[in-house]
Amino acid sequence: MTIDITYHKRKRLSLVRFSRATTGNPVIDKPDPDTRGFATPEFGAVLPVTENKTVFVRLNRDNVDPGADLFVKSSDETIFTVAGLTGGKLPTGATQDIQVAAKGGGTPKKASLEVRFGALDGPIISKLAVFVFIKRTLRITPHNLSIKSASAAAIPSAVDINSVIGLVRAIWAQCGLELTVSATVTDAHTFAVAGRVGRGIERNKVLSARFIPNTINAYFAHQLEGSTPGTLGLGFSRKFITDNGLPNPGILLGDGNVAGTDRSTDNMWLANDLAHEIGHFLRLDHTERKEPPDNRTDLWSRRRLMHNFNTQGSSGDFHDQVGYGDRAPGDVRRGCFVSMKDLSQLTTDGEVAVVRSTIESAAGPY
Ligand SMILES: [Zn+2]
Repeated sequence: MTIDITYHKRKRLSLVRFSRATTGNPVIDKPDPDTRGFATPEFGAVLPVTENKTVFVRLNRDNVDPGADLFVKSSDETIFTVAGLTGGKLPTGATQDIQVAAKGGGTPKKASLEVRFGALDGPIISKLAVFVFIKRTLRITPHNLSIKSASAAAIPSAVDINSVIGLVRAIWAQCGLELTVSATVTDAHTFAVAGRVGRGIERNKVLSARFIPNTINAYFAHQLEGSTPGTLGLGFSRKFITDNGLPNPGILLGDGNVAGTDRSTDNMWLANDLAHEIGHFLRLDHTERKEPPDNRTDLWSRRRLMHNFNTQGSSGDFHDQVGYGDRAPGDVRRGCFVSMKDLSQLTTDGEVAVVRSTIESAAGPY
């Protein structure tokens, strides 16, 4: 294998690259590594793992021969081990999915997955930082809103709530969080339009009627009316309701909106919305604290779960793959990335530290 390199003064050459061990929907044992930047202290990607769990990460041989003898090992086997390989030797091929088996966690405990050339004690050609977190629990209670009007029968949400929550579970596992999900509660209401949660008093009734404390209440409705016709999801965190005089925290998700959009079978879209709103409960801000039309448009920002716009779009400036595949041909899915690194040039970085300090605080996220 020959590598052509052009450079001026100096250039950093990465022989291998790490990525999610899948594309498409979030998968609980295939986290989204933080691959941003090559500066101190990690000098490469960071893989998050919950204690005592085994996850997969993909090694891509970008600039090393697919047939080269590569070996992987843990820098500290009291923190994690590499599973499923004999003597640490990788199979040949352009990519390999490596199993990282975590032991007890910390805040986090840190070790490196070393990629070595030729032998298990050969020269190191790359390192992946592995962060092993103590498991924390996040409680969530789904509600299915069954809404009738004076003249029309009740219409509930048609969403497969368990499937949506399963994707949310995979997204937040990346921060060492385990979701405890209560059985879905059915809330009956009589509003102006069957199936619809209107603004103002109807929304307040939803947030008040069956509120359950010490859990995140997630309300699924057939149709949601927001401040714009396109609104499909609304989140009211504890901080937001305190600032705005609302009755209780909660997250509202519409199968559809008043503009006629139907997302009832798009589990990935709904999961991204719900996981994003949970991010606000965990005190994460929108990426770089920018709101439309000043939202950041760079790819590092648009990968993020907490990007406010958070659509990769079907055309134009926002058409980039962020590792989650296509919703439809040419229509790229939204990202679910939560940052592990805390890069000094960014305002809202180190998201995992914010999340974990919120869930470990006396006030908690609820
Ligand atoms: Zn938001």
